[in-house]
Amino acid sequence: MNDPIRKIVVVGGGTAGWMVAAMLGHQAQGQAAVELIESDEIGTIGVGESTIPPFVYLLRKLEIDEQDFIKATHASFKLGIQFRDWRRKGETYFHPFGSIGGQLDIHDFYDCWLKAKTKGHPSRLLDFAPAAVMAEQGRFMLPFKAEGTPIGGAGYALHVDAKHVAAYLRRFAEAKGVVRTEGMVTEVVTRPGDGFIEKVRLKDGREVEGDLFIDCSGFRALLIEKALGVGYVDWSDVLLCDRAVAIQTTNVGDTHPYTVAHAEDCGWRWRIPLQHRAGNGYVYSSRHISDDEAVATLMSRITGEPLIKPNIIPFRTGVREKIWHKNCVSIGLASGFIEPLESTAIHLVYRAMDYLLRYFPDRTCAPALADEFNRRIRTEYEEIRDFIVLHYCMTERDDTPFWAEYKAMAPTPSLQAKIDLFREAATLREGVDELFREVSWRSVMEGMGVHPKRYHPLVDRLPYSVIENTLDQAGPRMAQFVSTLPTHDEFLAKVCPAPKLDLTPVTV
Ligand SMILES: Cc1cc2nc3c(=O)[nH]c(=O)nc-3n(C[C@H](O)[C@H](O)[C@H](O)COP(=O)(O)OP(=O)(O)OC[C@H]3O[C@@H](n4cnc5c(N)ncnc54)[C@H](O)[C@@H]3O)c2cc1C
Repeated sequence: MNDPIRKIVVVGGGTAGWMVAAMLGHQAQGQAAVELIESDEIGTIGVGESTIPPFVYLLRKLEIDEQDFIKATHASFKLGIQFRDWRRKGETYFHPFGSIGGQLDIHDFYDCWLKAKTKGHPSRLLDFAPAAVMAEQGRFMLPFKAEGTPIGGAGYALHVDAKHVAAYLRRFAEAKGVVRTEGMVTEVVTRPGDGFIEKVRLKDGREVEGDLFIDCSGFRALLIEKALGVGYVDWSDVLLCDRAVAIQTTNVGDTHPYTVAHAEDCGWRWRIPLQHRAGNGYVYSSRHISDDEAVATLMSRITGEPLIKPNIIPFRTGVREKIWHKNCVSIGLASGFIEPLESTAIHLVYRAMDYLLRYFPDRTCAPALADEFNRRIRTEYEEIRDFIVLHYCMTERDDTPFWAEYKAMAPTPSLQAKIDLFREAATLREGVDELFREVSWRSVMEGMGVHPKRYHPLVDRLPYSVIENTLDQAGPRMAQFVSTLPTHDEFLAKVCPAPKLDLTPVTV
């Protein structure tokens, strides 16, 4: 008999908690009451400012006005990620969002381009990626407003201010009926017998009961780990970084429409430009560098004046053994964490919610649903882990112990299988999620020097002159078209300017 969930309790009000509340408010409104508990005393992690294109789709799904969101979160546009010094010092490559070239007849563009390279064609693959060309020229236009033009296939995401995102989503969720409770959870009460969570108790003695609990308490993992004892699969053997230092600075120069990921001696450094300030951080391995040295390195690299003191964030790379257990689903940092190189954590919040809504339980929380949810989301975590490892383990650098360790490291077996297939036939195994489509994997494979041995043999059915003419025309046409677009700063100022904020530099 159907025994519907009547009350959902979300513990935690960081980006994950409010994203969950917003999605539940939007999609489960009228079906189940949603209450979110957060503690101002504890606060949120406060980083997590670079997103990937599905984040924009989420805004659309929630029917949030994109321009309004951009203004309120002081966001800027992101066309991809620029990687500096990863394969070799001095080398740069770009991971663009959206398409690279269009199909030629029935043939994949990449295969055609590979054939042209065997004939000595001088083009770069990224000459045909509209997002990369816009990024290179520092220009921007919404691709869906330019359909039928050379940039119609570009994809984009946003750089956002994490604090403002949580506040925005809170307003959105509360307007949909989500109730916010301020308070610190000090005890989780489980039911005798099946061990389901019955209620949480707050510091001031109040109790909040529920049928389904969503653990968004961040690295504390209050419900899933502390109360239910679900363990953690540690991936630090293949992902060496375990700490980050973050600092916000004033903006200097143009707001580039991409995230910069600059390899450092013991990790890498991010720069994320927002409309009102920039986010900067150094993700590093504590086995290879001390906190003080990491802070000193970051401070020596930043441009602009510091707006906060450097904030050190330890983390443990891996995934929860079961992300959904009994009547508790962990989402966000409580469910696992893979370092932020490809900005995937916020995306995983959205994916987990997507799966939860698909496999939404009744009050029995049938294990068959939890098992399928866990299988699917775990596969996505593993896919992302492999994708991140790819950025490191194909390096040719051995100039520091950190990079030498990565150079000597074997890829995970699942990553090795992907590399082998790509080398053999320029193709990739499809994951369950389309998150990292072929474009993403190809861009990073190419950037890290993994090249296919051959192109698809059927491309030979197409006269080479067709390929050559297409490449000769498409690249320059794209570059010329992009040069007529507004700069990223002009676009932001005209279409979605954020209100000015008074930011006061601090002495560090
Ligand atoms: C260095 C770093 C950089 C990152 N960069 C990116 C990025 O560029 N892109 C990206 O997608 N992701 C990034 N992430 C991940 C991203 O920050 C998180 O996925 C996202 O912020 C969600 O965090 P959260 O809400 O799970 O946790 P938190 O922000 O830590 O929120 C936890 C919440 O739980 C509440 N809480 C905890 N304990 C209690 C209690 N006892 N009682 C009541 N409430 C409690 C807190 O008050 C808070 O509201 C990054 C992470 C790190 C560490």
